[in-house]
Amino acid sequence: MQEGFLEKMFSLKGKVVLVTGGGRGIGQVICLQLSRAGADLAIFSRSGASQTKQLVESENGNILDIRVDVTDEDQVKKGIDQIFKKYGHLDVVINNAGVCYHKTAFEASLDEWRQVIDVNLTGEYIVCKEAARQMIKNHISGNIINIASMSGHIVNIPQMQAAYNASKAGVIQMTRSLAIEWIDNNIRVNSISPGYVSTPMSIDPAFVPQELLDAWKPLFPMHRMAKPEELCGAIIWLCSESAGYVTGADILIDGAYTVV
Ligand code: NDP
Repeated sequence: MQEGFLEKMFSLKGKVVLVTGGGRGIGQVICLQLSRAGADLAIFSRSGASQTKQLVESENGNILDIRVDVTDEDQVKKGIDQIFKKYGHLDVVINNAGVCYHKTAFEASLDEWRQVIDVNLTGEYIVCKEAARQMIKNHISGNIINIASMSGHIVNIPQMQAAYNASKAGVIQMTRSLAIEWIDNNIRVNSISPGYVSTPMSIDPAFVPQELLDAWKPLFPMHRMAKPEELCGAIIWLCSESAGYVTGADILIDGAYTVV
């Protein structure tokens, strides 16, 4: 193999990447792996990302930790301005912030429905829009990856989560729509649909009771959840020049959950 071939294909050196919800879970692992691939990072979250910052900086990576609620258009605009002020550009957005409730349609209040749609769908829309606006203004060939879910394709059981499932189906179709809208601006827009991934959202006993974990186990064709690291190869590939012809795609990484 030609020396440096793979590095050239997949290097993120010189790219600035915004990861929303990068303070823990999948977002934290994405930050670490993308930093190792050469990217400079920025994070949006409501409660800060001091642990992620520490981890990235301990490996000499660059990271900007900004308090932004992705549902607030004004905060998002100011956050993106801060990224341009520090790094001078923004090349990639990973729209990862998300929330989930397990409640039936009759149990969930309208406020709970609205909160899930607000963060998972409207929040991703706001970040896509404001990042793309600045990318276009600054003549940047940008790249947006929206974290959807297999729940945008199938209905999870036994827990009921209509708002979450609807929000993630919305993310997949929004991704396809924006890919076409910005195709002549050289902005690629794709989504990733993970199956269950072991993070606080899917294993924290405060959120997921043991009976539910036990009910999920026989449903995994690979007999386990994904590790967050197992999403990162696809993310690095999508961010890189080697995925230059990939836009409007949704990549399922679900250990065949949606196949059976
Ligand atoms: P976590 O609950 O571990 O992390 C979610 C992150 O989102 C937190 O860092 C949180 O930070 C941030 N966040 C939530 N609301 C907002 C907001 N309004 N503004 C800014 N940041 C916000 O979730 P995961 O890591 O498990 O999930 C990450 C993504 O992957 C989500 O979109 C989720 O739907 C998706 N996914 C997860 C799966 C799983 O099994 N874990 C499966 C499929 C998809 P803070 O509270 O500080 O704002």
